[in-house]
Amino acid sequence: MQEPSSIALHSEWTTVAIESNRVELKLNQESSQKALFAKHTFLPNECIVVIGASVIYESPSYLTIQIGDAQHIAVKPEYLQFLNHSCNPNCFPDFEKGELIALKKIETGEELRYFYPSTEWSMDRPFLCNCESDHCLSMINGAKYLPMETLSKFQISSYILTKKSESANF
Ligand SMILES: [Zn+2]
Repeated sequence: MQEPSSIALHSEWTTVAIESNRVELKLNQESSQKALFAKHTFLPNECIVVIGASVIYESPSYLTIQIGDAQHIAVKPEYLQFLNHSCNPNCFPDFEKGELIALKKIETGEELRYFYPSTEWSMDRPFLCNCESDHCLSMINGAKYLPMETLSKFQISSYILTKKSESANF
């Protein structure tokens, strides 16, 4: 995972206005990518922001988060669609609790990232990850394609856990 300081050194980030005193949305001028950053320090298990669903769709898109077989939600607050993926995540969207939770201590200015297969069974847009973590999985296409041994190293949703246990029985 990149250090926040190295991101700042090598690229141009500008702040995008959102209503939050807990997270900051920034746009990278070079890549046109958006990302969310911590506005202050969060402790492990702390609620970063309260989350919910604005709409539930039957099919996934690259902006939705999965909570059931044909339940893909547009997340509230809307800016959470810009949460990027990491194979070394520092947060997890827990829709049972209705909270985006810090998985570890997060420093001010650190990018918030979660492990996409922790909620996504089979992703609409698989991609090659280059998060630079020591255990980067490279191809990110959903929990369906990962062994339980790998998934068990992460905080995953109860939906994914159930789905994985069911598929292991076949
Ligand atoms: Zn990775």
